[in-house]
Amino acid sequence: MTDNAAALDALKRYFGYDSFRPGQSGLVDAILNGRDALGVMPTGAGKSVCYQIPAMLLRGVTVVISPLISLMRDQVDGLNDAGIPAAFVNTTQSGDEQSMVLAQAARGDVKLLYVAPERLETDRFRNFAAHTPISLVAVDEAHCVSQWGQDFRSSYLGIGEFIAALPSRPVVAAFTATATERVRRDIVAMLGLRDPAVTVTGFDRDNLYFDVIKLESKRKAGWVANYVATHPDESGIVYCATRKETEALAEALNRTVPELRAAASGGSGSRGAGFANGTGVAGGTVSAAAQSSGPIAVAYHGGMSPDVRERAQRDFVTDRVPVVVATNAFGMGIDKSNVRYVIHHNMPESIEAYYQEAGRAGRDGEPSRCTLLWNESDIVTRRRLLDNDYENERLTPEEQEVVRMSKRRLLDGMIGYCRTADCLHLYMTRYFGETAPLVGRDGRLGGKCVGGCANCDGTFETIDVTDTARAISRCVHDVMYDWDDQGRPSRAPMRSGLGSGKIVAVLRGSRAQDVLSRGLDRCPSYGRLRETPEARIRDVLSQMTTDGFLYVSEGRLPVVGFGVRAAETVAPDFVYEIKRVERKERPAKGAGAGRYGA
Ligand code: ADP
Repeated sequence: MTDNAAALDALKRYFGYDSFRPGQSGLVDAILNGRDALGVMPTGAGKSVCYQIPAMLLRGVTVVISPLISLMRDQVDGLNDAGIPAAFVNTTQSGDEQSMVLAQAARGDVKLLYVAPERLETDRFRNFAAHTPISLVAVDEAHCVSQWGQDFRSSYLGIGEFIAALPSRPVVAAFTATATERVRRDIVAMLGLRDPAVTVTGFDRDNLYFDVIKLESKRKAGWVANYVATHPDESGIVYCATRKETEALAEALNRTVPELRAAASGGSGSRGAGFANGTGVAGGTVSAAAQSSGPIAVAYHGGMSPDVRERAQRDFVTDRVPVVVATNAFGMGIDKSNVRYVIHHNMPESIEAYYQEAGRAGRDGEPSRCTLLWNESDIVTRRRLLDNDYENERLTPEEQEVVRMSKRRLLDGMIGYCRTADCLHLYMTRYFGETAPLVGRDGRLGGKCVGGCANCDGTFETIDVTDTARAISRCVHDVMYDWDDQGRPSRAPMRSGLGSGKIVAVLRGSRAQDVLSRGLDRCPSYGRLRETPEARIRDVLSQMTTDGFLYVSEGRLPVVGFGVRAAETVAPDFVYEIKRVERKERPAKGAGAGRYGA
């Protein structure tokens, strides 16, 4: 049998599947031919099969390095059920148990051995590895090795050294759903992959409809309630930033969604009002069953006791409760295929995080919707968390600063997604480095995307903000100088710039003490945008940063300077537009929006 036929045969025998999914067979073939491999596929694409099939066909043991001990048991149980001899070694076991499993693996009775990276450093495991033929080392969630990714784990740094110390070098295969170029390079370097076969696939999920809505914080809960009320037969996940929010929102949904549905089915003709959801999709049908008494939503977060959490998960997975309101603790290892919508109540920290969480919608391939609600305060909160909270005792202060900087960049990618007027599918696949162009709904390049997104559907307008952008750019220049009473600048810049808040204050002609005491009221930009709302100036400034016209320095007191495209703003033909984020379609009067603000 050729490798390929043997692999297909194993796929059918152990997993019951007739064919490989895109990307899988290439990776399996590479590994079977003794070549290192890097598989970059989104969550749910089927990365595990890529090392599980070779593990069954290769002679020795396959060591699977996986970051989460909590998931190992499920994975191993699943494999054992399929007739695959798999086991794990981890801290939930006694020393004797660990030795027993390792002895079985050494005898060849275990083909797949799951361990956390920390395990590789123990004497017991090193001793085992020195005496047992290991054919394949599969590194799951390999992006954890990169400080440029979002889940850096210092224990992943030991993997390369562990492999190098083995008596004979196994094939090494790394898998991740994070595909930025930088992270990919790190994986190859840090794990010491040799000329790996790299496969990047399937980042576009064309059954997902993407939508981004800018909404004041106090209106978010009402929006979610309306959405849930109008989609009664659907299962959904609502992600919140904090544990407290999950509980408050779950409680609000349980209280208000039945009211909204009752009001809508009251036959008063008020349906339109009650359900104006501003989503651009027709509301679902309101079935009698959906109005029955059971809870609508259940909260889920890491602070709940394990049994409460498990019950919440079970109720959701078995469709007893249609909606789970969760922190990002929810999702890893939860396999529910018919999730019809994922709503983000707050902006996540990165596109990686967003895509992973939003991608839990529509695993069954049916049309599903991913909506991100955000506003400027999400950005402020995220930035503050980044600057204050990041600590890792195994990193030096300099390394911590590197991590902080990379996280800030990840956040910029996320902010860009919120603001972009481009196709949202395209934005994401570009971000993930997938180069294949997206073919439009009509089969042509360009045009509307296949999966659909709010931007291609044009649910927004653009606003010409050329004058505002020019004024901001000028102000960034002006505040670097001191100005005398005749409006003459100092000969050289007196400072490298000011923070964005100050820039806005100067443009608005603020009388604040720290503006006046520095003589900023004498600079020519002072009061130039007196008539422009502060929020608009902030929006434009932020977008100019994303687009490279401005540059905000990193560190505790960030100042605004010029970006690489700054010179364009003074060109005579410069035109600058931003996306108008307020919706064209407005919730009708009396709609839930705002009424149930958390
Ligand atoms: P990932 O690790 O990429 O998140 P998994 O390996 O958990 O994804 O696979 C996701 C789901 O897809 C699993 O239920 C798996 O059994 C299924 N799957 C994997 N490969 C195939 C295939 N070739 N055909 C059908 N289903 C598959």
